[in-house]
Amino acid sequence: MKQLTINAARLEKAIHELGRIGVNGQGGLDRTAFTPADLAARDWVKEKAAALGLDVRVDEAANIWAARSGKRSELPAIAFGSHVDTVPNGGKYDGALGVLLALEIMLVLKEQGIRTRHPLELVSFSAEEPNPFGLSTFGSRTVAGKLTRRDLEGVRDDTGRLIIDALRQAGGDPERYGQARRMPEELAAFLEVHIEQGKRLLNRGIPVGIVTAITGIYREEVTVLGVPNHAGTTLMQERTDALLGAAEAMLALERVCLAHPSDEIVGTVGKITNEPNAPNIIPGKVQFHMEIRGKTRADIQEAIDKWEMQAALISSRRGVRIERRMLLDQHPVGMDPLVAGTCALQAEKLGYAHAPLGSMAGHDAAHMASLTRSGMLFVPSLDGKSHCPEEASRIEDIEKVGNVLLHAILALDEKLDA
Ligand SMILES: [Zn+2]
Repeated sequence: MKQLTINAARLEKAIHELGRIGVNGQGGLDRTAFTPADLAARDWVKEKAAALGLDVRVDEAANIWAARSGKRSELPAIAFGSHVDTVPNGGKYDGALGVLLALEIMLVLKEQGIRTRHPLELVSFSAEEPNPFGLSTFGSRTVAGKLTRRDLEGVRDDTGRLIIDALRQAGGDPERYGQARRMPEELAAFLEVHIEQGKRLLNRGIPVGIVTAITGIYREEVTVLGVPNHAGTTLMQERTDALLGAAEAMLALERVCLAHPSDEIVGTVGKITNEPNAPNIIPGKVQFHMEIRGKTRADIQEAIDKWEMQAALISSRRGVRIERRMLLDQHPVGMDPLVAGTCALQAEKLGYAHAPLGSMAGHDAAHMASLTRSGMLFVPSLDGKSHCPEEASRIEDIEKVGNVLLHAILALDEKLDA
């Protein structure tokens, strides 16, 4: 019997078709959540899903769900999908690929007349990316019960538009918001295909990435206090320069992360202010945000501890005071071993090279994991580029990951609730 596969040529056409919605002069996509382009992309998804005979509904958080009934309607659904909103000047693969593959799989099942035991649901989550309302992974957090009506109170973008108005326009319902929440008993599993947005798979020539965990993010605000003084009359050995102390502390973060045994520990200082920031005054106060991401909370803690020791040394040697305030401590989220194992087995059966890896970016699946057994598959990103117009993946890789998703869904359909 011929192996069941997705139709890569058809999928490629769909990628470019959806990729035209919101395209700007630089060839990137401006499809920020709840903008006219995002609404047009949503309409495109709804139309395609309806044309497949799926039961399309938009929930109170404006998430799009498209259901296909199973042989046993009492079973919980296997859901899969991602998001179609983009960052400003983003690419056509981030998020969209997961939704398009979900559509393609529904199409293959229809063509082949395959009826699963479980109901299947395609989902396109609202506002996954950071957006002017300051609420990212909006749809999946609502579905998981982590974002409630109260969190929307008075939330506006910088033009003064209320999120509840934006939501209404997208087909959501702020008055009955809580109903968008799904219950664990309604879902058997959630799977999301996404581009890797890094170079690990590409560098190793591996087409199928099986996500083991979604990165934890730790952020703190570090304040380095020195003594502001005259830049001419204060001799070098008499200075307590906050900026030089901060610079050393930042370099220490780089050293600690480079030396960490896990290559998935990354540290970044992406935000900094210097006071008084005048050419003739020795800096008196520097504030920066230090971010550490890692696959396990223990890895992150190890990096924090090592950095703390370095910071204490810098502080005593230079006489600067270092104050710290924790801003975020989002723990890593493990993906479900059964889902990941099923994906690995299917990749094996299909003869595709695959590798486990941690996701260094946040995703809807991280929130769905609190609701149901969840897994993610990664497609290699060309040049590791993402959130830019050059974002791309090879169709041969996409095809392989799509086939793994298709067979993993069918295998889970047999395995779960058996
Ligand atoms: Zn994404």
